[in-house]
Amino acid sequence: MRAVDIIAKTRDKQKLTDEEIKFWVEGYTRGHIPDYQASAWCMAVLLNGLSDEETTALTLHMARSGDTLDLHPIAPFVVDKHSTGGVGDKTTLAVAPLVAATGLPVGKMSGRGLGFSGGTVDKLESIEGFRVDLSKDQFMALLREHGVVVSGQSADLAPADGKFYALRDVTATVPSLPLIAASIMSKKIASGADAIVLDVKVGAGAFMKTQAQAEALARIMIAIGEGVGRKVAAVLSDMNQPLGNAVGNALEVKEAIETLHGGGPADFREHCLTVAGKMLELGGKAPDLAAAIEHLAGLLDGGGAWRKFEEWITAQGGNPAQLADPALLPTAPIVDPLPAPHSGYLAAINAAEVGQTVVDLGGGRAKKGDAIDYGVGVVLHAKAGDFIEAGKPLLTVYANSRASLEAAKERLLAAISWSDEPVSPPEPVLKIIG
Ligand code: URA
Repeated sequence: MRAVDIIAKTRDKQKLTDEEIKFWVEGYTRGHIPDYQASAWCMAVLLNGLSDEETTALTLHMARSGDTLDLHPIAPFVVDKHSTGGVGDKTTLAVAPLVAATGLPVGKMSGRGLGFSGGTVDKLESIEGFRVDLSKDQFMALLREHGVVVSGQSADLAPADGKFYALRDVTATVPSLPLIAASIMSKKIASGADAIVLDVKVGAGAFMKTQAQAEALARIMIAIGEGVGRKVAAVLSDMNQPLGNAVGNALEVKEAIETLHGGGPADFREHCLTVAGKMLELGGKAPDLAAAIEHLAGLLDGGGAWRKFEEWITAQGGNPAQLADPALLPTAPIVDPLPAPHSGYLAAINAAEVGQTVVDLGGGRAKKGDAIDYGVGVVLHAKAGDFIEAGKPLLTVYANSRASLEAAKERLLAAISWSDEPVSPPEPVLKIIG
């Protein structure tokens, strides 16, 4: 078999066999297929798609590229969640300890930044010392001892996704339904959870721009998960404007910490309660979503979720002093508020534009392996539907140079649309499937 023939088949919209997909995944993971051929294939998939059978085969071969964990010797039922990628999406940072604080174990594999969307692994690495490169044994031990663990892809766990993911990030091949489905579900299958809640984002700051695309992505991921015996549900949520107020790695860790102390932005708290509530429901810990949310809100307000967060971050090597005093987290040298240019209602804040601004400030990668600046980002002081008076702070930019600050301000102003009439904020949850 030759890599070039496989690329040509996908380019010409011919179906690949299971053997060809296995050859492709193994070849790229082991370094026999170079990045330039893998990039060409990813672009062919982005343009032409894959059939459901090909997507399922790709997922299963990617999951089997490393170990696939059986967590049952250490926990009878483990839950997991995964977002399809958004802007300001720090949900895992709050939801993983929140659910674990109920006694339901959470074992999860996350990813780095992808295109304009941030990644949980990068956010966690903004905490000094935090380790995401876990072996199979370390993953199991942390889950056993603390009931919560979050790793990145490693040599042991979903290495194929680690390689494809980093390549897609910098080759404009992220927003492809089959590649997203295979990336997410290969990690979920490898990390062994019994139940998975998929947070499928829809809108300007999501890879799926319409609800129909998001539902199609949700349905194939649910089918793949159920096909290997997992319980899977999907929450379709709005991603037209950023989630919460903070966008940028360390800024998002700070916002998650506020939320775990019972504060934080209302939209982010509500979103976390919905995703966590669904995890409790699938895990059999609550009779319905409303009861689950009531219980979880008590854990956010009463300190139980916060204590679990401290235990988890410290167990994975994170510096506890930065949790106790988030001002010690990385912060950009230039912090500059942007005043509202005129009075009016905020009609929309284009999340993809905000996300790309943060990438350009240094919060994401332009090339594989680029270093990240954890301290840069944007904090919004108003969201869609709010009225703001001229001259009041609209947002604050955290930058590491005057030039990047000015470019960010210009782009952010252009990302906001205004209305003279009152505007309804977007519905945070559009639909729950499963
Ligand atoms: N999250 C992932 O893990 N992979 C994707 O492709 C998109 C979001």
